Amino acid sequence: MYGNSNQPIIVLKEGTERTKDREAQFNNIAAAKAVADAVRSTLGPKGMDKMLVNTIGDVIITNDGVTILKEIDVQHPAAKMVVEVAKTQDTECGDGTTTSVVLAGELLKQSEELINSNVHPTVITSGFNMAAVKANEILREIATDADSDEMLKKVAITSLTGKSVGEEEDALADITVKACKAVAEDDKVDTKNIRVQKKVGGVIGDTEIIKGVVIDKEAVHSRMPKKVVDAKIALFECSLEVKKTEFDAQIQISDPSKMSMFLDEEEKSLKAIVDNIKATGANVVFSSKGVDELVQHYMAKAGILGYRRCKQSDLEAISKATGAKIVGGSMELTADDLGHAGLVEEKLVGEDGMAFITECKNPKAITIFVRGGTEHVLEEVERALNDAVRTVGVTIEDGKVVAGAGAAEIEIGQKLREYAASVGGREQLAIERFAKAMEIVPRALAENAGVDSIDSIIKLKNAHDKHKDGKNYGLDLETGEAVDMFERNVIEPLRVKTQAINSANEVANMILKIDDVIAARRSAPPQGAPGMDGMGGMPPGMM
Ligand code: ADP
Ligand code: MG
Repeated sequence: MYGNSNQPIIVLKEGTERTKDREAQFNNIAAAKAVADAVRSTLGPKGMDKMLVNTIGDVIITNDGVTILKEIDVQHPAAKMVVEVAKTQDTECGDGTTTSVVLAGELLKQSEELINSNVHPTVITSGFNMAAVKANEILREIATDADSDEMLKKVAITSLTGKSVGEEEDALADITVKACKAVAEDDKVDTKNIRVQKKVGGVIGDTEIIKGVVIDKEAVHSRMPKKVVDAKIALFECSLEVKKTEFDAQIQISDPSKMSMFLDEEEKSLKAIVDNIKATGANVVFSSKGVDELVQHYMAKAGILGYRRCKQSDLEAISKATGAKIVGGSMELTADDLGHAGLVEEKLVGEDGMAFITECKNPKAITIFVRGGTEHVLEEVERALNDAVRTVGVTIEDGKVVAGAGAAEIEIGQKLREYAASVGGREQLAIERFAKAMEIVPRALAENAGVDSIDSIIKLKNAHDKHKDGKNYGLDLETGEAVDMFERNVIEPLRVKTQAINSANEVANMILKIDDVIAARRSAPPQGAPGMDGMGGMPPGMM
């Protein structure tokens, strides 16, 4: 940055902020730790919920790491990288999001102490990488085969505990396993076939599996059939109306007879839309946009059942279930685009009608139809079920599980310490810190449950050393004792653990390698613009 003379050469634009070396590292680490701290208190069945209120006042009450992080508006670039970890974990496994973020924060905290004692970040990252590879190996060694439905149910229960699903864990776990089994094909479980549809009313225990798709809509016209057998289904992502002009056009009509001609024309084109639908053989229509009143009338007359303003996700679900193609123009429908279902029926759920599309062409289309008292409860149950479905799906695919409640983490920690000693050199220090970082999981579980965390970790380590099946000993959150988690039914898929460790390690690596942050001057709102905007002037630890 400096020339031969003492005159600095300015290469950066005015207003650019630059932090270097340790200051940059510590700022980034502090920001990442702040994200981890934000979700740590939600970890585990005794974790607390968070109430999130967005700018327009909508309230979400959740315990789900990724949901929290998606909702809060994180600004610091390093903090954003940690949020990405949760999202990756969510797409790969559907569970373990809080764990991955908490682990990432702890890895960085441990490295901060190493940097303070003058261990170079490259040595740390190299040691961490060795430790992560070894941790994966250890996990595979301690994993147990999961082949029975009973085992799958335990996995579902573990995933559901702590979410506000009340006393209904058991019933929901059964439903989850049934749904996953129904869509499993060889060793693949396409959980996209399973849709969670919620409707306020009843109790959580009324939740059931529907073979098909359920849409929260009533027919657009009261004189349409309430039941269509052998349904040929058309999907429109356009309105079934006469095209409005882009701008307010004025049509000057001087002669009254011209007026009726004009209206006739409009009527004709509306009728043509329905004629075209009829000609394809369709008898059920779903549109994501509006449907003109005249079109509704003609459809009712033709015995066609129609729905308007459906969600795009509804159309996609119907498409996947019935084989219907989504059509973009009101006159573009052909017979080839139609999907098929044995029955489309409007049923009364509480006070509203809902469309039940069953006996679908794709027999693997399944809906978990969730009932419950309030919208907030339902939303949390929906999130919990989506997680559980993914977790059980992953377990069916991989066929491997490990013990939860901190059992796997303690075992990895113990084995990594032995490994560190065998490696020696400067990396040894980093591997030992990695091992220590793993303990954050049982520690946070204990803290959140209000049991002594130092005591708990000691008991866990003893149990792992002493017992034959020591590797499965995790923390009983009621008593703070170490117990075999296979007996307590706290079991998690192997993939949730490997993924959490790998992505936490990756983000720690990325953040540790940064020693220079060059931030453009923050531009005026709108915020969240891409690029490096929004990095400047951020105090350490800010999110
Ligand atoms: P995540 O978003 O990481 O899945 P959770 O809040 O679901 O976070 O907590 C998961 C952790 O809670 C795992 O470590 C899991 O083993 C542990 N856990 C789940 N059920 C129990 C239980 N009954 N007793 C102790 N620990 C449990
Ligand atoms: Mg979970």
